[in-house]
Amino acid sequence: ASAASLALTLSACGQDSEGGSEEGKGGADGATIGVAMPTKSSERWIADGNYVVDTLESKGFEAKLVYGEDDPDQQVSQIENLITQGVDALIIAAIDNKSLNNVLQQAKDADIPVISYDRLILNTDNVDYYASFDNEKVGELQGNYIVEKLGLKDGSEKGPFNIELFAGSNDDNNTRYFFGGAMSVLQPYIDKKQLVVRSGQTELTQVTTLRWDGGTAQKRMDDILTSAYKSERVDAVLSPYDGISIGILSALKSDSYGTKDKPLPIVTGQDAELASVKSIIDDQQSMTVFKDLRELAKVAVNMVEASLDGKEPELNDKETYDNGSKVVPAYLLEPVSVDKENYQKTVVDSGYLKESDLK
Ligand code: BGC
Repeated sequence: ASAASLALTLSACGQDSEGGSEEGKGGADGATIGVAMPTKSSERWIADGNYVVDTLESKGFEAKLVYGEDDPDQQVSQIENLITQGVDALIIAAIDNKSLNNVLQQAKDADIPVISYDRLILNTDNVDYYASFDNEKVGELQGNYIVEKLGLKDGSEKGPFNIELFAGSNDDNNTRYFFGGAMSVLQPYIDKKQLVVRSGQTELTQVTTLRWDGGTAQKRMDDILTSAYKSERVDAVLSPYDGISIGILSALKSDSYGTKDKPLPIVTGQDAELASVKSIIDDQQSMTVFKDLRELAKVAVNMVEASLDGKEPELNDKETYDNGSKVVPAYLLEPVSVDKENYQKTVVDSGYLKESDLK
């Protein structure tokens, strides 16, 4: 952390390490930041890596970006390497939220601040801040979309409709927030039997999808269709993430859903990945949840900057995210529900996706 301490010393003298005092170049200028992302197998994390690096560089930081191929052990050794290389701060999107305790102790011993990026790291004091979205709201948006499209809102007695439930990876802390948010909307309709889960799989432990893998979800959907939908039809599927939604849609299409007589059910998603926004335009996937990763990158980089300057960053939630060892102060961004009606306004006009890529 020598560059940071040098930068801090210089800033204490009213200068930054380049001798200037331009805006955005605080005492942390010139520091090197390690960025550990979980996987390149999903578009969203590639975008995260790029936005975080660009934002760091635009503020005069150096960045070292690594991807863990969804393998927790690999991520641990990558972070160990970053610490050995002398990074001044770490931004980490964990693969397995409980696997980082030892390596974060090493970070602590080397005085390296740690920002938990998007996913909360659990059971350690050695996390300074959490940059994420309102994860419960993500699930609420998915649940609300389903009940609205089925016409169940506002006391309607319609139904019963058949629904199946999917959740994310059980080692990702976000999973229970997404699922909890969605179920807070869906459960009352399940209780009133306006929604029926024919597979009987309603507990989080029964519906998780290890490492958010689309193929795993496809296989589970295949099995559910074979065992629980011999003569019945599925009307809605709660899917937590676009890659999972694509797998679910493949299973449905292999079972001849998507025809005039057998329309596709409502299928939710998350991340506004290109393939899924195309699928939405094509009337296959019904919705996704857009999380503007450009904003998340800014929040995380602000946290790094403030930490290295010995200041408190802007925070808007100091009570929700208890990681088992402490409540991690957070800044949570707002997720946005996206479907065919508003994709133009939300993801295209904002410059997040290019119109030409959606053709
Ligand atoms: C993220 C989601 C993403 C999922 C799978 C979660 O931790 O919050 O945006 O869909 O991981 O990559």
